[in-house]
Amino acid sequence: MKLGIDIGGTKTAAVVLDPHDKVIAHETTRSGSGPDAVLAAAVRIARRAIAEASLDDEEARSLSVGACMPGLVDGATGTVLHAANLRVDRLELGPLLGAELGLPVSVENDVKAAGLGAREALCARSSRYADLGLGYLNLGTGLAAAVVVDGEVVRGPRGAAGEIGHLPVGTGVPCSCGQTGCLETIASGSALARLWPVPTPRPDPFVAAAAGDRRAAAALHTLSDGIATAVQVLVFAAGVDLVVAGGGLTSLGEPLAEAVRDRLRERARRAPVLAALDLPDRFELLVTAIPLAALGAAELGGRARPTSAAGRLS
Ligand SMILES: [Zn+2]
Repeated sequence: MKLGIDIGGTKTAAVVLDPHDKVIAHETTRSGSGPDAVLAAAVRIARRAIAEASLDDEEARSLSVGACMPGLVDGATGTVLHAANLRVDRLELGPLLGAELGLPVSVENDVKAAGLGAREALCARSSRYADLGLGYLNLGTGLAAAVVVDGEVVRGPRGAAGEIGHLPVGTGVPCSCGQTGCLETIASGSALARLWPVPTPRPDPFVAAAAGDRRAAAALHTLSDGIATAVQVLVFAAGVDLVVAGGGLTSLGEPLAEAVRDRLRERARRAPVLAALDLPDRFELLVTAIPLAALGAAELGGRARPTSAAGRLS
């Protein structure tokens, strides 16, 4: 049995998977703000998911636990740094959550966990995905990616692998990270909000563009072009076979995926080297009922060396 906890910017989710990786419990709550509240919400939702799963004593004692959240994660110590949107500068998530639950806890960055979760979700569909190098694009307020090769997340120095949102690509737009022209400034939810500023609740930009809104159409062209570049970066630099996208922007659905494929087709018409790679066929949206990061955290807990001593489930 595996427990996965996904601490997101607004919601914290917990899932329990049975030995066949079937989801037998799924609970969500509002995320806390600040280290103490973030931890308290994670503990509360983990206990609720464990209760919902109706585990017997033996199952509860042998439960493996993985947790993920935004920020810079040291997997060896379970420490998370600089999760600004949760108002967390530093949190010893692994040891503290482990002490509360009485179980060892593995910790990973949320986008990297989602990459692992994406691989699990794809492999549940078909075994043909197991051998593919996978790129996971998180199209949220910002842009980040994870690379999964041979079933393992590529981390790089201090987890830098996959931080393609802050690759300067010459957009000329100042980025929140301090650089100018980052890919995130054209390929993210915040980019779309800047390129097409409309009052909330924001209407569907594809519907607006189809109705003749030229600014919406131009924004979508820029957005899809930026995402196409992200796909190209992951295939060229990380050598992945397939790129799947998750995150809030994927609520735009297949029109977004098709717009990205259109940009890739346009590039392939000009560049034979791209045409040979079939890039449009290597990109898809991955929309699942269970958060990918929670699935990935559960998988991580089941396979990684945990960061705190095991004890009794409290
Ligand atoms: Zn940046």
